[in-house]
Amino acid sequence: MKGYPIDLHSHSWCSDGNCSPTKLAERAAEAGMELVVLTDHGTISGFEEFEAACRRLRIETMPGVEIRTQYRGLQFDVLGYGLDPAHAAVAKVLDAQQLAEAANMAWYVERSCPGVTVEDILHHAGVPGPLTAPCWIRKFQREVLGLTIADIERQSHEMKGERDAQKLAFCQQHLATFAQVAEAVHAAGGIISFAHAHETGIHLFPEHPKSYQRLDRSLDLAGRLIPLGLDAIELRHNSHHDGLVDMIRRHHFPSPLLFTGGSDFHGDRPGEHKPGVCFGSSGLTAREFRPLRCALYRQRAAVGLR
Ligand SMILES: [Zn+2]
Repeated sequence: MKGYPIDLHSHSWCSDGNCSPTKLAERAAEAGMELVVLTDHGTISGFEEFEAACRRLRIETMPGVEIRTQYRGLQFDVLGYGLDPAHAAVAKVLDAQQLAEAANMAWYVERSCPGVTVEDILHHAGVPGPLTAPCWIRKFQREVLGLTIADIERQSHEMKGERDAQKLAFCQQHLATFAQVAEAVHAAGGIISFAHAHETGIHLFPEHPKSYQRLDRSLDLAGRLIPLGLDAIELRHNSHHDGLVDMIRRHHFPSPLLFTGGSDFHGDRPGEHKPGVCFGSSGLTAREFRPLRCALYRQRAAVGLR
């Protein structure tokens, strides 16, 4: 196998990926992975299917989820690992995120496809709800409304500013704060990692022209979250080239953070696939994963889970 044997970040069509959890596990097997985690946005609903497929394919896995949260007006993603998927505190946090996303998607459908409902789009795509990925809206626009890709891109470009502002507003209204998310994930026996610090820096600190400056701001933000319960930071991600990985590794945090890593693979999405991103293209070595495994055991034991 090439790349990393451990990949802790991927998405199925339970959020914005484009294939089923089973298909995703099959892709992990083809890539020769040892351990993979499904981290859908705001939902752990794909875990049972993913785990069954991984067991059949002899790949290790654990529950995971990517959660959007907020801290002092800043919105960003964190990853939860090893948490009990049925825990009520986690369900509450995820419900809040789904409310924000559903409101945002309903708004977008209403604006971009007048007279069409979210249900129409899900039905046409043949995917289970809730609607979280704009790619299904684009598919509907192409195949049912007869728009060309150029039309769709123009419309999407024209609406981008308004769409981002709406999303921010819906999220501000509904999302759980970082402290609430950390508390819920810990109570459910999991640990929490700051996701793709570089990508987060691009969104939160666009005033800085250089990517290392934006990453630096992002790492400072992560540092401020440590007293609130942050356990780890994503060291490798498809948006982190070697220089950025080095910067994360050497950053002086107020107290040490564990490292996580993953490709953020979404399945092969025609026309949108990031070239070169697949299971194992970013991740951790077995040795790098060891401290994280210990922390996961400790956290589960601390809340009485085996
Ligand atoms: Zn992701």
